Amino acid sequence: QRCLSFIKATKFLNAYITIAEDTALKQAEESEERYRRGQILGDLDGIPVAVKDNFNTAGIETTCASNMLKGYIPPYSATVVQKLLDQGAVLLGKTNLDEFAMGSGSTDGIFGPVRNPWSYSRQYREKSVQNSHIENEDSNWLVTGGSSGGSAAAVSSFTCFAALGSDTGGSTRNPAAHCGVVGLKPTYGLISRHGLIPLVNSMDVPGILTRCVDDAAIVLGVLAGHDPKDSTTVQDPFKPFELTSFIDASKLCIGIPKEYHAPGLSSETLALWSKAADLFENAGAKVIEVSLPHTRYSIVCYHVLCTAEVASNMARFDGLEYGHRSSMDKSTEVMYAATRREGFNDVVRGRILSGNYFLLKQNYETYFIKAQKVRRLIANDFVNVFRNGIDVLLTPTTLSDTIPYVEFIKEDNRTRSAQDDIFTQAANMAGLPAITVPTALSEKGLPIGLQFIGRAFQEQQLLTVAKWFE
Ligand code: GLN
Repeated sequence: QRCLSFIKATKFLNAYITIAEDTALKQAEESEERYRRGQILGDLDGIPVAVKDNFNTAGIETTCASNMLKGYIPPYSATVVQKLLDQGAVLLGKTNLDEFAMGSGSTDGIFGPVRNPWSYSRQYREKSVQNSHIENEDSNWLVTGGSSGGSAAAVSSFTCFAALGSDTGGSTRNPAAHCGVVGLKPTYGLISRHGLIPLVNSMDVPGILTRCVDDAAIVLGVLAGHDPKDSTTVQDPFKPFELTSFIDASKLCIGIPKEYHAPGLSSETLALWSKAADLFENAGAKVIEVSLPHTRYSIVCYHVLCTAEVASNMARFDGLEYGHRSSMDKSTEVMYAATRREGFNDVVRGRILSGNYFLLKQNYETYFIKAQKVRRLIANDFVNVFRNGIDVLLTPTTLSDTIPYVEFIKEDNRTRSAQDDIFTQAANMAGLPAITVPTALSEKGLPIGLQFIGRAFQEQQLLTVAKWFE
């Protein structure tokens, strides 16, 4: 009830698309009943959580913030949603996003942009009034980053204790960093994607947003493991772990990828990054500069692969099976075209067009196959540094702290979205686990996060380091 009242009080953030009030209260009552009767409780019994609106939830509308799926009520729940419920979690509602998770601002869905709760923090308010170049108070509000901005805002504004996001190129880590919360992208194949409406199948993973690293480890323990409904999940059983506060830093080897000194990196973030490296060094860890030489191809490579998979994924939305169908039905072709024109925004349509272009017979080798090869090189860069003894990499999560919406929309969103993912995308292409941890406040009083990237399936080590740092 408290969380639901917080959600209502922060409605202006636009973090939630659907509030599942009735089912949430029922779940909470059932949980209380289990407790009263002394029954065995689930790992998340009674814990209020939120879920990004691109995960299917049985009986609860699932829209992907798109006209295409508006009104769609799935007949089943995503495996991860079911796992949360099976452990007693209370599902408060579905959170806002960029349409079909394409974007890095959470500004591009049909329900409107998400507002960053930090827009209303005292620190930012005082600073922004001092340096105000914008007259109207309310136009100073900040973007959350994206595309899981609704989930990040929901955790950051204390309306829930954990939220699911999705992470294809950074969509969990980017908004987590901008909203001052923890964002975990697990190893590809550790968590089921069944019921997560796909963006890029070969890179998508469900992401976890929480207030602290310990909570992320608990939720990971609930979600991880093989799913017969997702053949890309690994068979090995996952052993949930508890994090220790103690680590022997002298046994730790931290890599600092030199290519991550990217153009556009703010001086504040850079300073924070080196300070963090010093912290590890002073604690006795080895801190070594490493090279991931193919990083510079990462954005272009991601673009080709992402749009190619988008083109094929979005083909399922044809007006026949799911969601929207246009009333223009002169012919099947006309109906298809009109449905897709009415159903998708221009970002989605643009990606479908680019993707189909890269997949044309005459372009397939030059673009798609070439990009697959570059992806392998990017992944091998990581294999090499880990083989040479690096335990985890320490990098920035985003180029800078977040910016006001009015500035965000001035720039070409698509270019912006590409640049914003510069530190996060490579982990998706390599399938590696990565976590962003809120680290400090900027001059403007806004959160800055730093990212750790770990070895595949070494979540325990990654989270242990993150917790020590936190
Ligand atoms: N910003 C990236 C994109 O638009 C990543 C999106 C995501 O991770 N879902 O493709």
